[in-house]
Amino acid sequence: MGLEDYRQKRKFGRTPEPAGEAGSGEGNRFVVQRHQASHLHYDFRLEMEGVLRSWAVPKGVPDMPGVRRLAVQTEDHPVDYIDFAGTIPEGEYGAGTVEIWDKGTFRLDKETAAQLEFSLEGERLSGAYVLIHTDGKNWLLLKRKEKPQ
Ligand code: MN
Repeated sequence: MGLEDYRQKRKFGRTPEPAGEAGSGEGNRFVVQRHQASHLHYDFRLEMEGVLRSWAVPKGVPDMPGVRRLAVQTEDHPVDYIDFAGTIPEGEYGAGTVEIWDKGTFRLDKETAAQLEFSLEGERLSGAYVLIHTDGKNWLLLKRKEKPQ
């Protein structure tokens, strides 16, 4: 996707968000940002291919297996966004407050066109997860049952 959508939606100079650049693509970090915008949601982002692939999860990332959460894919964000917390002013895209809810690293276990399996190691979240593409921008985010070693 690249960062064109990200940049077109924002007026840098008015929003404190980073304009950013695509990165090297070698990172394996993730972040969950609690975003109190017009509707509270949690932005889940995985560092992949030099950007943060991003999903808005209205009910938050599940911490137990069996709970399915809608995750709506949003525009790729620059890798710098991983450290962003602050207030986006009234009238700007995504107006509201952003807090870092969790961060850490992930391991990509399997990727197909319709599914992304990964394992998280964060401060709050850990274990095996899967994102399943359903249609359009809609995905389901679930915690997988741990396989016995
Ligand atoms: Mn958001």
